Amino acid sequence: MKKTVLTALAAASVTLCFAQTTIVRDPEIESMTKEVNPDSLRSYITTMVAFGTRSTVSSVTERKKGIGAAREWVLSKFSQFAAASGGRMTAMVDTTTYAADGRRVKEPINLGNTVATLKGTDPNDNRIFIISGHLDSRRTDVMDGTADAPGANDDGSGSAAVIECARVMSRHSFPATIVFVTVSGEEQGLLGSGYMAKKARAQNRNIEAVLNNDIMGSNNSNETNIIDNTRVRVFSEGLPAYDLDKQAKQIRQLGLENDGAARQLARYVKEVGERYVDHLEVVMVYRNDRFLRGGDHSPYVENGYAAVRITEMNENYNHQHQDVRTEKGVVYGDLAEFMDFEYLRKNTAMNLANLANLAKSPGMPQEVRVEVRSLTNGTQLSWKAPAYGTVKGYYILMRETTSAVWQKKIFTASTDVKLPYSKDNYFFAVQSVSENGNESLPVVPVPGR
Ligand SMILES: [Zn+2]
Repeated sequence: MKKTVLTALAAASVTLCFAQTTIVRDPEIESMTKEVNPDSLRSYITTMVAFGTRSTVSSVTERKKGIGAAREWVLSKFSQFAAASGGRMTAMVDTTTYAADGRRVKEPINLGNTVATLKGTDPNDNRIFIISGHLDSRRTDVMDGTADAPGANDDGSGSAAVIECARVMSRHSFPATIVFVTVSGEEQGLLGSGYMAKKARAQNRNIEAVLNNDIMGSNNSNETNIIDNTRVRVFSEGLPAYDLDKQAKQIRQLGLENDGAARQLARYVKEVGERYVDHLEVVMVYRNDRFLRGGDHSPYVENGYAAVRITEMNENYNHQHQDVRTEKGVVYGDLAEFMDFEYLRKNTAMNLANLANLAKSPGMPQEVRVEVRSLTNGTQLSWKAPAYGTVKGYYILMRETTSAVWQKKIFTASTDVKLPYSKDNYFFAVQSVSENGNESLPVVPVPGR
């Protein structure tokens, strides 16, 4: 095994770059992000709103109204993209009977997620990357399945982003598999995502990342005059919901409270999103979700998958979970007229860039270790090549313990590197990188003796 000793910043086989100064855009991903179209997004949302209500407890048999008609329409869009994908994309409504639960479902319902799968081209690569939005909408009374609930932004915005990503990406191929899903049952208690995440865990599916988009197309708050279409939030859990008792000791011992899989994904989403989308800052929030609230990423994190929530910077509560009405001159209700489609375009492109970069990347490096046999002020890292994909090399990521984001990105073609920086004072991780610069998710080293 080749060993690189980095004694100076100019060491021959190692490139040290600060932040993203030497990272360039992959032309294929850049061109895909440019195809994301605000008019397409608006037309999807106009169609979704026209179903009257998309409540999960609304009709599944009516043809023009209710959640059944809406999910069939999403299926028709996915099928249209699939037809032009050369057989790589397939589409279905994945249904199950959900029994009355004494909470937000009073009678058994036919629950259905509309799913498009863009199969990866590498038969050895079993990785899955998911983009999710929820198709269901609600009235103030969440049990009302008949009267209008337009749900343009919550979550027509996330659903439209899913459909638009499927449209653009179905014409490209990726080594890993991408799943585009609009779920039902979010407002009734995360039912559709719960069904999907549990099934994935039971089948031990290799889902490496879930981007849950929920409320991402409006640029203002109801309480201030702030209009902000240049920032979007990504929420990620700190301590892992899954197997915390097994992981807690190591998290405490190594100080990894801030380096779980969801948090790593959030950092990745910020870095890659800002790389490809101009005039958009991805703001990390160190919480699984908004204060005391929930979303469709949660069933995934509870089943051990890296999942984050993407949501607009300011929410307008006059337009969320509100029946459409006018009171004292104020219009309430979740209508498309209150949305900013240029903002939704950027947030959709940000998702697309991340999905594409992940699905084009080689697998994560394996057995990433930090050498701890002797006490030293340096750091020696070693790892093995990923199980699939071709690597140009690896990035060693490095940050101070108080830094939210990676501060240095060191390229090496080696798999064993000594760095003149102390593991006492920095966090490290390693990513695989392809010829086109597509990075895998980072792997935090474990002590190796
Ligand atoms: Zn929502």
